[in-house]
Amino acid sequence: MKTELMEVLEKGAKKGVIPSNVACPIGCKFCYERSMKSIFPRLEFNFIPRYNRESFTYFYNQALKYGKCVQPGRMAELKNGKVYFGKDSDFFETGLSKKEIEKIIEINKEKKAKPFYFYTTGRSLDPEFVRYLTEKYDNYFRIWLSVITFNEKIKRKIITNWTKSEKILEIIKSLKKSKIALIHFNFRQTIKDIETINNLNIKNISICIMMLHYNKFHPSFIKNLAENSYYDFKEIIEYIKENKDRFKNVNIRFLGPPECYAWKNKDLLKKVFKNIQLTKRDIILCSKGSYKVMKNVFEKEVEVSYIPDSFGGSTNFSTAITSKDVIKKVLKIIISKKNIRRIFLPSSIWWIKDKYDYEAKSAKYVKKKFPGIKFNIIKIPKEIINSSLSVEDCYRFYKEIEL
Ligand code: SF4
Repeated sequence: MKTELMEVLEKGAKKGVIPSNVACPIGCKFCYERSMKSIFPRLEFNFIPRYNRESFTYFYNQALKYGKCVQPGRMAELKNGKVYFGKDSDFFETGLSKKEIEKIIEINKEKKAKPFYFYTTGRSLDPEFVRYLTEKYDNYFRIWLSVITFNEKIKRKIITNWTKSEKILEIIKSLKKSKIALIHFNFRQTIKDIETINNLNIKNISICIMMLHYNKFHPSFIKNLAENSYYDFKEIIEYIKENKDRFKNVNIRFLGPPECYAWKNKDLLKKVFKNIQLTKRDIILCSKGSYKVMKNVFEKEVEVSYIPDSFGGSTNFSTAITSKDVIKKVLKIIISKKNIRRIFLPSSIWWIKDKYDYEAKSAKYVKKKFPGIKFNIIKIPKEIINSSLSVEDCYRFYKEIEL
């Protein structure tokens, strides 16, 4: 008889995903995984312990049977009216041996998979093994290394099982064409961290600079760190733009500020609404992150408002909004505004299997509650969802728009 674990492994192989649900041993104090169950009580995590020889062999045979490329990832399933999720933690903490990791890469090589980035914090990575895989598999082994910062004092404060920078630097020296994620804490530290990587003189390294967010469950020191970092984010961008010759060996990208995504893609957003005759009886509802830009672009034609998401704190993306949040918002609108004709909502709220939110509710659930209102779900183009921001994008955003 097939066990629950075998079912999950088989589904993964069928989809081309190596499922994982390792209780992440890293312990970042800003992690969102820990609060997911408190925020979304209907969300369940898939049952997948650390891999052992037996479970890996089962998965591997299934992968060969279905013949897909296999890349690590989070699987979302719908079962008994609940969303079942896999945790998306460090690939190298999943219990796979070096041989097994290589077998996965071999499958991808055979299938000529697109370059894929294996996410890791580096804690369980042996720099020699990284060098070996990088040289042997070039296109098929790239990592997304979450460095966060090289400042040991900050790391000690925010990560329980942090990895010494000495080891992280050894790993970076073994890489080609990989990505390194840094978190911006303050101007001085971010510049220092970029310089550290730049001075290694390695070609084809991308650095992704992220902003720290907090939700309502994070301790106050995380909230303070996140809020402080927000203020001088603009300075970092200006400095990098004006001193680009100093950072010749790295390609710098940004994952934030959130408003910049909507601003960068405002023409695409206008195009989405091009054939819709908007009136003052319509309302566009969006995430907090895109609100100011949406308002700026559409407010002459239509009312724009945002839906607070369930995470609270500084999170502001549409994927964190649930159908219940939408209902709460619409009820509020109805009290203050009569005569509503249509409400426009982004499809990214129901992103799980392109149909459900975190609580396994679809847009139909919202529509049923308000039979007198017409809801239009606006498909958000993939280019917006998958985009990252260049130095130039962010620089122009801060220069050209006064929000
Ligand atoms: S590595 Fe990722 S999943 Fe693990 S604790 Fe840190 S943020 Fe959470």
